[in-house]
Amino acid sequence: MKMRKIIIANWKMNPQSLEEAKSIFNGTKRAAAKLKKTLTVVCPPFVYLSTLGSSISKGKLSFQAGAQDLFWKEKGSYTGEISAEMLKSVGAKYVIVGHSERREYFGESNDIVNKKIKAGLKAGLNVVLCVGEKDREPGVFLRYIKDEIEEGLKGIQRVFLKKLIIAYEPIWAIGKKGPAADSPEDVLQMSIYIKKILLPIAGKELMPKIPILYGGSVNPKNAEGFLRDAGVQGLLIGHESLVPEHFGEILKIAEKI
Ligand code: PEP
Repeated sequence: MKMRKIIIANWKMNPQSLEEAKSIFNGTKRAAAKLKKTLTVVCPPFVYLSTLGSSISKGKLSFQAGAQDLFWKEKGSYTGEISAEMLKSVGAKYVIVGHSERREYFGESNDIVNKKIKAGLKAGLNVVLCVGEKDREPGVFLRYIKDEIEEGLKGIQRVFLKKLIIAYEPIWAIGKKGPAADSPEDVLQMSIYIKKILLPIAGKELMPKIPILYGGSVNPKNAEGFLRDAGVQGLLIGHESLVPEHFGEILKIAEKI
């Protein structure tokens, strides 16, 4: 069965005003409107989520809003934090967890990521678990990815994994302007490896249904190679998702493959 492509926009801490956010969001929505076989998910900063999420028409399943993070507690004295229920109440259906920038700047360990994944899945959100190595040091980086997945998913019942997505994002390939992305050939090897890790965790029925995405300097020029040859079901896109024309081109490519 051919699964629909999933293209996720991670805006990170951009743009700097709600007005700009509306403009990028509307441009993206227009680009996504014509698509039938591609799911588009836009993950803006928390503060814009409510306004933007509420502008998505109900029943429009191919265009959704998501968040870039969440906290694992349901409510209470956790200054500055946002819960899964809060996200759901403003229309978010997806949440990114364990992005390498959160791991690096906010000290998120696999244990913290695990708590966040549990909270997101338990609340019924689709959770995008980001994994990726800092460099390709032989003998080390494969273990690193394995630990991120196994520890991130520890103790989660299989039934909840139906809403899990894995985004493979090698850290060294993130945020580059030039031809610095990984290669489709290497990502293919990595997607096979990730499936192997997932097999005992998810079981043979569910494992093939867990989408694996690639992220790291994807642009309109290299998107086709990843979507065609890398064994992935979609893409997680950072800086190019802030330019609706470029993001729209990537959506068109996804739709035609
Ligand atoms: C990301 O950080 O999730 C990402 C994919 O960024 P970029 O596309 O800018 O490399």
